[in-house]
Amino acid sequence: MQVAQVIVDVPARQTNSPFSYSIPDHLADQIQPGMRVQVPFGNRKITGFVVGFSDSSSFNGKLKPIADLIDLYPVVNSELLKLAEWLADQTYSFKISCLQTMLPGGMRTKNQKKLIAKNEQVCQQYPEIFQGQPEVEYDRQKYNNQVLAEILNLQKAGDIQVEYDLTNRARPIMRKAYRGQLNDVQIDDALKTVRKNARGQIQLLNLLKTHQNETLLVSKWASLGVTSATLKAAEKKGWVASTLKRHVRNPFLRDVAPSQPFKLQPDQQAAVDSIEQAVVHKKDQVFLLEGVTGSGKTEVYLQSIAHALELGRTALMLVPEITLTPQIVGRIRSRFGDQVAMLHSAMSSGERYDEWQRINQGKAKVVVGVRSAVFAPLSNIGLIIMDEEHDSSYKQADNPRYQTRDVAKWRAAYNNCPVVLGSATPSLESRARAMKGVYTLLKLPHRINQHALPHVSIIDMKTELAKHHSALSTKLADAIQVRLDKHEQVILLLNRRGYSAFLMCRDCGYVPRCPNCDISLTMHKNTHTLNCHYCGHKEPVPTVCPQCHSKRIRFYGMGSEQLEEQVKDMFPTARVLRMDVDTTRKKGSHEAIIDQFGAHKADILLGTQMIAKGLDFPEVTLVGVLNADSALQFPDFRSSERTFELLTQVSGRSGRADKTGEVIIQTFNPDHYAIQLAKTQDYEKFYATEMRVRHDGKYPPYYYTVKLTGNSPSENQTASEMFGIMNFLKKQLSPQAIILGPTPKTITRIDNRYYYQIIIKYRKEPQLKATLDEILVQSQKKQRQGLQIAIDNEPLDFM
Ligand code: ADP
Ligand code: ZN
Ligand code: ZN
Repeated sequence: MQVAQVIVDVPARQTNSPFSYSIPDHLADQIQPGMRVQVPFGNRKITGFVVGFSDSSSFNGKLKPIADLIDLYPVVNSELLKLAEWLADQTYSFKISCLQTMLPGGMRTKNQKKLIAKNEQVCQQYPEIFQGQPEVEYDRQKYNNQVLAEILNLQKAGDIQVEYDLTNRARPIMRKAYRGQLNDVQIDDALKTVRKNARGQIQLLNLLKTHQNETLLVSKWASLGVTSATLKAAEKKGWVASTLKRHVRNPFLRDVAPSQPFKLQPDQQAAVDSIEQAVVHKKDQVFLLEGVTGSGKTEVYLQSIAHALELGRTALMLVPEITLTPQIVGRIRSRFGDQVAMLHSAMSSGERYDEWQRINQGKAKVVVGVRSAVFAPLSNIGLIIMDEEHDSSYKQADNPRYQTRDVAKWRAAYNNCPVVLGSATPSLESRARAMKGVYTLLKLPHRINQHALPHVSIIDMKTELAKHHSALSTKLADAIQVRLDKHEQVILLLNRRGYSAFLMCRDCGYVPRCPNCDISLTMHKNTHTLNCHYCGHKEPVPTVCPQCHSKRIRFYGMGSEQLEEQVKDMFPTARVLRMDVDTTRKKGSHEAIIDQFGAHKADILLGTQMIAKGLDFPEVTLVGVLNADSALQFPDFRSSERTFELLTQVSGRSGRADKTGEVIIQTFNPDHYAIQLAKTQDYEKFYATEMRVRHDGKYPPYYYTVKLTGNSPSENQTASEMFGIMNFLKKQLSPQAIILGPTPKTITRIDNRYYYQIIIKYRKEPQLKATLDEILVQSQKKQRQGLQIAIDNEPLDFM
């Protein structure tokens, strides 16, 4: 008899190895690794993943049987099961968390299932399952064991398709749509009556001609450049009529026209050739594709993917968080059409499940997605691409704390395929590996069409502030005016890292702080509240200082909202768009802003980091960075690297087409090397300078790092436990290991728990892994007393 090995859903060290369960007879041939099951555990029933089988002969005593199946087919394939093992080990996390991470969000909870007959015949042949309906709800209570076995067999044979019902999946989504009410003659008449400068109305009327008898969703109209305000006005005039239309879930919000591959430039061709060689010869080689913004990296990705597809293999392309997707996904879809599946965090769980399902069934051959897409159930991968490989969104901050790059390399080794890491500003770690020959360096040193890099100037805000109190320096304000006069576009970046608007009393200096956390509260103008960004605490904005009763309590610092107000005041005729977390909360609003700006319906786009990346607008000839150095103040050794990256990237937004661009960077540290070198976009020199800094400070890539964080409700307890851990580490590790701390974290108290951390820097510590595992086992025992320990391997955040 076979015994199933099950990882149970109890995140604890003791349950991190599989438990054995016997397999009831009716499931003996059906159960497969990667399926979820219900098993008895203590006196409850819990879920678990079947990860393998073993022979019962090695087992003494009576085994409890598996109680029931949750999945009717494996939801984690054999590759991902192996990956989960490795990931748990790498990230010091529980196997169950790793397995759950691999499923699309909505599937982590219990779902209803639907059984769909492949054809009429199947439906008629199995009345005990279908009762003559082509689709039935899966209801375990209704089936005896024999019928269940039958269902599983049919599923395996492909005669039944099993679908998971995710919340809101069954409910059709209704959206507002408009339909034209005029014939050609009436349209021409209407055109004669509208004002010449009513551009929106003229556009709508012209579109009504080509879209007669079509009912288009508001989102579709928006993609054609017609706002909902224009539509509402048109409805009043009787030009269009509104209805509700069923919205078909489609993560690609707009249609994309097919595109043809470009004839490659010599550097691009050389890169594609090397990558293709590795694809053909199934080598798990890692390439670092280093190319300035606009050097044609994306075209290299697209043509390399095409080669993988020609060989019948699939491709995985990873991009940073949503900021990049709309434009890049458009380009990929225009080349590969419906073979593309997309996975990102702004999609609903239903959409993500649909895409996941298409990938799992082998219908999608190219997957584009953010960090978690690295777990896409693609098989036969021929190429993995990581665009903007340096981006910090590739590191997951919570359990399992994985670095996407490492997972990508693991999957490449498993699938015998190459990985391409692309960036204009590679992480120092990757570039150092390329210098050592661990990665193969491919360079694209020229911008396509030899477009000159934009001219960059640096403004010292110390001298500016002595003159006036505007957020915009005189030079930047003048430059904006010039662009407005020439009808060109401007991007303004507000670096919001570690930057927020807080309240302060001008008389006594009082700053309202969160009662639960050691942090000042952030002013939210739209809700008129003070919010804590860590625990969610909210309170009304005081009008008098609670400390000295002065009325001069005002807010300091600047958010994008205040910047927008200032800019509108200074340039009353300019059309200004703002893009930040507040204006992009609603689904599709990010795309809408990009579309609007792209169609030149606004003159100035201002926003946070979100606007820095990947966007390609030919009419933008000026980029202004308002506070280049707010990240430089951070007590983090990567702050120079981040600043350099951000400035280089945002500068790349200017002058993408025929017009030469200009960049103006405002800073309080005009002489800092990260800012000076961003001026010339000199990555090589930055790399050399920064490597020296890292060498002297014993930081990555010269040293490996691990961060241990401990927290508990008592500061004493946290501190004393962390000192205990430090002493243990000192005993176990070699004298060459550098152990920093324990120190209180920058924000020591969050939600009334106290946080301390230890950083370990090391080059070679064979005992480290075992030591950290031991610390976790020991800390589990103390969890009852409220202590929590987290280990972050190669952390990106040191505060
Ligand atoms: P990157 O990804 O390095 O920023 P892109 O791939 O976006 O660069 O290329 C910049 C621009 O040049 C894009 O508009 C792209 O369509 C165009 N382009 C890329 N490769 C070629 C080529 N070989 N010939 C002509 N145009 C190209
Ligand atoms: Zn006061
Ligand atoms: Zn708080």
